[in-house]
Amino acid sequence: MHTEQAQRHFWLPVPNENLPGGVRHAFRGARWDGLASAETVCGEPVALAQPSELDWIYFPTCADCNSRLKGE
Ligand SMILES: [Zn+2]
Repeated sequence: MHTEQAQRHFWLPVPNENLPGGVRHAFRGARWDGLASAETVCGEPVALAQPSELDWIYFPTCADCNSRLKGE
């Protein structure tokens, strides 16, 4: 028997390594549980850290993550 599985994901701002600013990527799972690194929905391995309030406000949403989640 096949049950429909809800694709859970959460968003987290990820700072760029070299440039100021960053991008808000989506990740698989219910929420960030403190992992130091993870792979984004768009397939990029990134380092994770506790984002600041400003990161949430200023980092744009990753268009690639967004379109992949919409396509599911
Ligand atoms: Zn992304």
